[in-house]
Amino acid sequence: MTSEINIEPEDCVVKQLQEKGIKPKDLKAVVISHVHHDHTGGLADLFEAPIFMSKEHWKAFSRPVYASIEGCAPSHWPKKFVPTFLEAIGGPIGPFPHSYPLTEDGKVVAVDTPGHVTGHISVIVFAEDTTYFLTGDATYSLDLLDREETDGVNDDPKKAVETMRKIKQFAREREVVVLWE
Ligand SMILES: [Zn+2]
Repeated sequence: MTSEINIEPEDCVVKQLQEKGIKPKDLKAVVISHVHHDHTGGLADLFEAPIFMSKEHWKAFSRPVYASIEGCAPSHWPKKFVPTFLEAIGGPIGPFPHSYPLTEDGKVVAVDTPGHVTGHISVIVFAEDTTYFLTGDATYSLDLLDREETDGVNDDPKKAVETMRKIKQFAREREVVVLWE
């Protein structure tokens, strides 16, 4: 089975930013959970900002031939693409043993959520009223998360389940809104 993703011009990231009065060059960081093709569309338009990902992930996926076989579209990456690597200088957050601070105040951080692919990361935003957890492809729905059921392709299904358990543990400790990319 093949699936097609149709993105209308008005759906593209640059257009959506424009509607909020933000130019791509104003971005301080672009954080991607992993480089599968459906998570990197439009990345070439954001080349002026540092594009963050985990070093472990890039080590596994930086070779274009391998990346293509694994469901990536390296031809859509920015020219001479060199990502900026996240640094695990933050302390533990809930069940996650360490974190990658993305802002100085520590209110936006990345955490390791491997399983779907090596070095996959998710982003946590500690907002005033609640906490947002941006899963990437660590899970696809609350229902799947609830049942700890992996879906789609996972490089390491055992780790994928461990990751889901950690997300649930994190959500037991505070109010969390889970968001999918
Ligand atoms: Zn993926």
